[in-house]
Amino acid sequence: MDTVNGGISFWYADQSAGAPREPLAGDASADVCIVGGGYTGLWTAYYLKKAAPFLRITVLEQKFCGYGASGRNGGWLYNGIAGRDRYAARHGKEAAVRLQEAMNATVDEVIRVAAEEGVDADVHHGGVLEVAYTPAQLARLKSFHDAELSYGEKDRLLLGARETAERIRIAGAVGSSWTPHGARIHPVKLVTGLARVVEELGVVIHESTPVTEIRPKHAVTPYGTVRAPYVLRCTEGFTAALKGEKRTWLPMNSSMIATEPLSEEQWSRIGWEGRETLGDMAHAYMYAQRTADGRIALGGRGVPYRYGSRTDNDGRTQPSTIAALREILIRFFPSLAGVRVDHAWSGVLGVPRDWCATVTLDRSTGLGWAGGYVGSGVATANLAGRTLRDLVQQDSGQAGPTPLTDLPWVDHRVRKWEPEPFRWIGVQGLYAAYRAADRREASSNAATSDWMARYADKLSGR
Ligand SMILES: Cc1cc2nc3c(=O)[nH]c(=O)nc-3n(C[C@H](O)[C@H](O)[C@H](O)COP(=O)(O)OP(=O)(O)OC[C@H]3O[C@@H](n4cnc5c(N)ncnc54)[C@H](O)[C@@H]3O)c2cc1C
Repeated sequence: MDTVNGGISFWYADQSAGAPREPLAGDASADVCIVGGGYTGLWTAYYLKKAAPFLRITVLEQKFCGYGASGRNGGWLYNGIAGRDRYAARHGKEAAVRLQEAMNATVDEVIRVAAEEGVDADVHHGGVLEVAYTPAQLARLKSFHDAELSYGEKDRLLLGARETAERIRIAGAVGSSWTPHGARIHPVKLVTGLARVVEELGVVIHESTPVTEIRPKHAVTPYGTVRAPYVLRCTEGFTAALKGEKRTWLPMNSSMIATEPLSEEQWSRIGWEGRETLGDMAHAYMYAQRTADGRIALGGRGVPYRYGSRTDNDGRTQPSTIAALREILIRFFPSLAGVRVDHAWSGVLGVPRDWCATVTLDRSTGLGWAGGYVGSGVATANLAGRTLRDLVQQDSGQAGPTPLTDLPWVDHRVRKWEPEPFRWIGVQGLYAAYRAADRREASSNAATSDWMARYADKLSGR
């Protein structure tokens, strides 16, 4: 069987997006209009409607709920948030520790709500295992581990080569760091389940309804305009296509492959009984999960960025990226040399110029947004949804400030990306440097990060 390329993602191979919802049929009004039917938009709708059932909430989605990264991701529901160190530098360590604690709690919150609302998303709460397989990676792993402890993670474990192999037998792994604050999920089951739940609560969702322009109190579409005191932009990696937002968040690609289901014998060679989500410490890192139906789904960067902030065509990725991801899979698990790759796909995630996720409500205009999660959005989108709820409630006088509205990522502003061709040249250069650094680290015994990666980090503002 040939590898299926695109079709949004493998997660749709055994799940349909459901019956299409009606597009907007003309001008309309709402109390809150949410643009984008991914995790961010749907969690925001969920928490707002739960807090204030009388609110008229409309979600406008250009294709269908889960069309974006929420229907394509690696299924790492974990406590990472982009920009934490920068928020610590700007607002103090104590504020960043509060942000981290909120993220730790968010993993449990998603699992709790999914169970309570009857959304079966194949959740397995096995934590996150991040491995090193070169001396330089091991040095980075140890400082990463220490940094996580310094942000209050008391339950994280540093594991040696033998303890790592007791969990997952990865060729050449010299150590790992494990945290319980992570779970494996099926991305599409979560996003389609959430859409069903918010609709049952009375939220109106219009699909096949692209918003062409957002301005104060207006979301403009080809079929009509929704007027609302609050318009919340939850469009992540697609934001650049909106009028006036071309250079706001760079749409970074991430690509994945899913193997055929592995046999019992293949699994017995690998281990992975704990079903931890799995990552590494390479500069151009990989991420993977053991799926509920016994496959390995594995992702990485591939071609990082398309000129002019273009996005992919319904999830198709480049053949060279499929080959590169397969190579990583076999490097990790040589016993899978003959394994079939059933599916490959890609998606976009939003990267702000300073690589810091944010959630904001502009009180003078009623415009809000959340995103820029840089690849750590599965859990963060939930925290964003609860925070947007609190910001809207505070602004409309229904509630006061809350611990969430006081977190350091709230109301963060950042400058725009450079115009083309500088944007394209910068991102290509960044990932060329990361890949070269990974290759040099793999062939050396140096226990420090390669200078090319350090230099690239500095130049890119990462
Ligand atoms: C391949 C891949 C793997 C990833 N793996 C992980 C992972 O394992 N763990 C993790 O934490 N994060 C991961 N991420 C990131 C994570 O999936 C995202 O951060 C998260 O899903 C963002 O959710 P969202 O709702 O903000 O954006 P999206 O899911 O992208 O949703 C945005 C929605 O807005 C709609 N939209 C956009 N523009 C318009 C418009 N003009 N009008 C109407 N609708 C519009 C889109 O169609 C889309 O449905 C991954 C991302 C990718 C691409």
